[in-house]
Amino acid sequence: MEAPVTTWTDHSADRPISLTAPTGIDRTAYRRLDEPWLAAAWSHPSTRCFVVSGGQALIDETADGRTELVMTPSFEAPVTESHRYFLGTDEDGVSYFALQKDVLPGRMDQSARAAGLREAGLLLSPRDAGLMVHAVALENWQRMHRFCSRCGERTVIAAAGHIRRCPACGAEHYPRTDPAVIMAVTDDEDRILLGRQMHWPEGRFSTLAGFVEPGEAIEESVRREVFEEVGITVGEVEYIASQPWPFPSSLMLGFLARATSTEIDVDGDEINEARWFSRAELHAAFESGEVLPPYGISIAARLIELWYGKPLPTRSV
Ligand SMILES: [Zn+2]
Repeated sequence: MEAPVTTWTDHSADRPISLTAPTGIDRTAYRRLDEPWLAAAWSHPSTRCFVVSGGQALIDETADGRTELVMTPSFEAPVTESHRYFLGTDEDGVSYFALQKDVLPGRMDQSARAAGLREAGLLLSPRDAGLMVHAVALENWQRMHRFCSRCGERTVIAAAGHIRRCPACGAEHYPRTDPAVIMAVTDDEDRILLGRQMHWPEGRFSTLAGFVEPGEAIEESVRREVFEEVGITVGEVEYIASQPWPFPSSLMLGFLARATSTEIDVDGDEINEARWFSRAELHAAFESGEVLPPYGISIAARLIELWYGKPLPTRSV
């Protein structure tokens, strides 16, 4: 029997995935060890910087209704006791830095406010969201890797925030990214499989997801996670898109996965309920309020939408 084919790519350009769109920033990685260049870039009047603290930055509304990161020239920056991350340059040669501090500076005016990436990622331009996700990912890594994993000595920041060096044994530690797979599983009837985690609010269903294990290919990870969580076997696996997910250090790899079985057996641990939905059933469940439309920056919403074939209903937080 020939399975109906889900036409994913027909809708792929409808809406960009948060934190994934091209940012227009060249990370200029080869400059990270060039201290004279970094010092000159930092003191250049065109340079822009922002403060990141605990995963948050200040955002503000512009007069024309956009939301942007609050950035200042470096000479206005609060530099005391902060780490400086060089994030890159744009096509006009403007350099961007983030300063990591224990607290965000006092609000610059009435409208500026602190926001984390889950909120800011929905509001900011691809450039600003890209700068913030880079800075938050570095901050998370720096926070959790203060000590050398080889010898236990305290490490020091280097390469404009992109290396931590151990003064005792000489080891260099690089930012880590943990791959995770997230998959929309469909069956031969072109239904989608959505699951519910124990601690989620009533009515919240989403795609399955899990971490890639050591020594495992990502396609195998998709099949293992789906089988572990809901007892469904998966055959064909198609990569769709990725999304940086620095909560604290993941990279989500989004897939379409084709089920080769349909009988659900939830693990009761990570997932306590899972259901197959046809498009009509999911539509009706949204209408009745039985299922809450996905909200937020996650690629999960986009994967479901690709299958659904049209924008999902929106809801407020
Ligand atoms: Zn060491």
